[in-house]
Amino acid sequence: MIAGNFKILEDKILAACKSAGRNRSEIILIGVSKNNTISAIKEALNIGIRDFGENKAQELRDKCLLFEGDFNWHFVGHLQTNKVKYVIEPAEYIHSVDSSKLADEINFRAGKINKRQKILFEVNTSEEDSKYGLTKEDEVFKLADYCSGKENLEICGLMTMAPYTDDEVVIKKSFEKLNSLKGKLVTRGFNLRHLSMGMTNDFELAIREGATMIRIGTALFGHRDYNKSWKEE
Ligand SMILES: *Cc1c(COP(=O)(O)O)cnc(C)c1O
Repeated sequence: MIAGNFKILEDKILAACKSAGRNRSEIILIGVSKNNTISAIKEALNIGIRDFGENKAQELRDKCLLFEGDFNWHFVGHLQTNKVKYVIEPAEYIHSVDSSKLADEINFRAGKINKRQKILFEVNTSEEDSKYGLTKEDEVFKLADYCSGKENLEICGLMTMAPYTDDEVVIKKSFEKLNSLKGKLVTRGFNLRHLSMGMTNDFELAIREGATMIRIGTALFGHRDYNKSWKEE
């Protein structure tokens, strides 16, 4: 099933790249494997997926022990300071940095294992107060300045979740906001490579608006069954 989903998904990604005049190689497909089983992830590895996203710290901590090989884990969910210790070893990227307190803890934990942790700042571009992330541009500038002095942090980009809606105008606005903010940070001297935006419902739009990382769960692994644990095969 995953192989079939992957083929359909890749065709859509390629078509979106083509219509946006972009190269497929500019975009990293992150298979969001949260709540998905070990065998599902193995299947995805077998067909060549090399980036996986998790949103629960303990799930990543436990899952990552069951795999080895040359691929990356991304932590994409909200991260509590007291759980940084669980993700600091496996996470190639942490997408959800949204406070100086969290940044401090990541810097501290990364320092302890001699790591330079790649981070993205999570931005709430949707003007909904239910979501995590920084809301104001000024807050992002401040946090970026704050983190730029930290030895064990590498600022790599920005992440957002668009509002859950069918209204393409609203979604587009959210992605444009993130892209424009990236531009402003680049002007301020930050060498940002990544825009992490686009999920199953909106990745084509995200590609058009400049995404370099798309985070796809459902379109790849199928619907998540939260009545079942990832530990059940
Ligand atoms: C679950 C999740 C995704 C993937 O969602 P789908 O709609 O299933 O593709 C992407 N990003 C984050 C932060 C998530 O928690």
